[in-house]
Amino acid sequence: MTTSGPRASSSLNLISDAVCARCGCACDDIELLVEANRVREARNACPMGAEWFLASPEAGLPKALIGGREASLDAAVAEAGRILSEARFPLVHGLANATCEAQRVAVSIADRIGACLDTAMPLHRGLSGMAFQGVGEIHCSLGEVKNRADLVIFWGCDPGRTHPRHGERYSIGAKGLFTPLGRQSRRIAHVDLLPDSSGLNPDLFVPLEQGKDFEALWTLRALLRGHEIPAGACPGAPLEALRALSDAMKGSRFGVLFLGTGTSSAADSHMVVDAALAMALDLNRHSRFYVSPMRGGGNPAGADNVVTWQTGYPFGVHLGRGYPRFNPGEFSTEEVLSRGEADAALVVAADPASELNPAARKHLAEIGVVALDYGETETTRSARVSFMLAPYGLATPGTIYRMDDVSLPARPAVRSAYPSAEEVLRGIARAVGALP
Ligand code: SF4
Repeated sequence: MTTSGPRASSSLNLISDAVCARCGCACDDIELLVEANRVREARNACPMGAEWFLASPEAGLPKALIGGREASLDAAVAEAGRILSEARFPLVHGLANATCEAQRVAVSIADRIGACLDTAMPLHRGLSGMAFQGVGEIHCSLGEVKNRADLVIFWGCDPGRTHPRHGERYSIGAKGLFTPLGRQSRRIAHVDLLPDSSGLNPDLFVPLEQGKDFEALWTLRALLRGHEIPAGACPGAPLEALRALSDAMKGSRFGVLFLGTGTSSAADSHMVVDAALAMALDLNRHSRFYVSPMRGGGNPAGADNVVTWQTGYPFGVHLGRGYPRFNPGEFSTEEVLSRGEADAALVVAADPASELNPAARKHLAEIGVVALDYGETETTRSARVSFMLAPYGLATPGTIYRMDDVSLPARPAVRSAYPSAEEVLRGIARAVGALP
């Protein structure tokens, strides 16, 4: 098995158009100054992105462990293949923090061994996938937002904190073909519990009641349809503010709503996304309106796309009968483990051992786990077989999806002693017979 990345050099190298995977913006205009196999400077990156590029890769850990003891990569791959092949109800979990190429191989393994396949998304994001399955996704690229959007609504999110360059590159100050004056060419609305703390400076702020995202969106939809809201109704936000927002929406030529996690509980989030998409459907009878999830860092959009194009569904898929069955809840990682059904697990760059409920964690500790990650985690520490990986994007090539489903090629800047996730997964895929 080979290691990845460019050849070492002690001179200062400039890597242009590097892609940052720290947040869903996936900025692809980053210039990296690399010296002695270390990133010294990340030009154009925001502080959050610069920290991601400049972080020291995990060093000194063995490339592979079997039962907590250092092992060769080949032996670990063989042991991983044995565990997964012998399992009667295996689970493949994670994927959101890997390149599309690695995700694709993981899905092949799941298909071959008849596994439950679930991505490690925050619960809000996962459940929104159910709404997209039900209503359909009505979204546009960030390039279209930059060039056309005259109304941008941030709902339940504060981009200045979570996606620092979103505004400058696409949605607030960005100057485009039909938005030549940047910020002056568009109206900004912010809907949230509290005003932003990051200098968003919206034209309109709508204070939301805690947990009332659905009610507010449904009221907004009714207002857009011209219905009168009776006194005593529960609009989820001040009616006058919602009326002002609906007027702004009706007056826009091209509007977009960026949907964050909102204020509702995770269990309600697919209803919130349903309501936002239904509202966008209504508005598209008169103008152009889109809804775009504010995806986080890593490659969650890639996981959504890769799992969907290979199985037809984005997550919570069971492949044990030789064809995909989609049933989040029944086939989600937490439930499969809590019910004690899975008897082996392949975990790709995720840490279920520290994130799931106690029953799921207890069962995970009792079964054969094969874990791949970029550093030591609770899951890699307790796994039967674990692999340490080269950081994707920074040290290995591959494809990353931006939050708007635009795919970008990562440009590795440094060399790593560790293998890529794709290399390890290909080895496991060969061991279980998923690849020749
Ligand atoms: S905005 Fe996001 S993707 Fe862009 S440099 Fe900052 S952290 Fe990286």
